[in-house]
Amino acid sequence: MRSPSRLLRTSVRSAASSSASGGSSISPRLPASRVILFDTSPAQLIEIARDQLPESYTRRLARHRYGPAVFKLDWALEQKIPWSNSACDRASTVHVGGTLEDIAASEKAMWEGRAPDHPFLIVCQQSNFDRTRAPNGKHAGYAYCHVPNGCEIDMTERIEAQIERFAPGFRDIIEVRRKMPPSEIEARNANNKGGAITGGVADIAQFFARPTLRLAPYRTPNPRLFLCSASTPPGAGVHGMCGYYAAREALRKLT
Ligand SMILES: Cc1cc2nc3c(=O)[nH]c(=O)nc-3n(C[C@H](O)[C@H](O)[C@H](O)COP(=O)(O)OP(=O)(O)OC[C@H]3O[C@@H](n4cnc5c(N)ncnc54)[C@H](O)[C@@H]3O)c2cc1C
Repeated sequence: MRSPSRLLRTSVRSAASSSASGGSSISPRLPASRVILFDTSPAQLIEIARDQLPESYTRRLARHRYGPAVFKLDWALEQKIPWSNSACDRASTVHVGGTLEDIAASEKAMWEGRAPDHPFLIVCQQSNFDRTRAPNGKHAGYAYCHVPNGCEIDMTERIEAQIERFAPGFRDIIEVRRKMPPSEIEARNANNKGGAITGGVADIAQFFARPTLRLAPYRTPNPRLFLCSASTPPGAGVHGMCGYYAAREALRKLT
């Protein structure tokens, strides 16, 4: 007899293999597996499986709020970022915001639908710690800031000016720059609707009712279909707990 986890792996593999035809989207035709777990946004669940789900449920899924987007820059750098405060060299991720008031103003602007003038940044400099990230003697890094969902404003100048404020000379060490506006963030991964990378806003309402209010939010009204992405509790992050809880729900159905 096959163990529950083996059974789940087999079912999921069968769903994956029928979708591995290349490209970034899967065929709307669903495989005959006993369970199918969607590591997707609610919008994609609707798009792929609309005909397998009651309309009342897809209507509720369509009300899911995706929230703010990110605008991201990747850089190839001549050297380490020249922070004025050398303590920043010891962090692989530096949160660049200035004062608490500066950070609040940046996030407020974004929630009010405006691109911030002095954006609060997440700056990553992993090559300080992992030498495989850049050629010998060189460095790599990236930064992103929050912008309104679907925002089309080019934030390059504002992001680099903000780093320059705390690391004078930063602009001079940029060898190559790559821009990733919200539209490209979504083009690379359809889960990131409008450039939002968290699977949906995690305010008090949507933290529990994620993506809709159900006792077991990983289940859909169709007993074969489950949702296991960051659009389910406990939400975004690379902790894997959404998948873990969804897998437990699926195993209950299989055993
Ligand atoms: C630049 C960036 C930095 C981040 N930094 C952090 C961080 O430091 N810490 C942290 O905890 N989180 C971070 N996150 C967020 C984190 O990556 C997400 O919350 C998490 O990956 C969501 O997991 P998921 O399983 O829901 O979906 P994903 O990780 O998005 O996985 C879904 C997979 O399914 C594929 N897919 C989507 N749609 C389809 C389709 N229709 N057909 C076939 N395949 C499809 C996608 O290509 C992807 O491979 C970051 C995200 C980004 C973009």
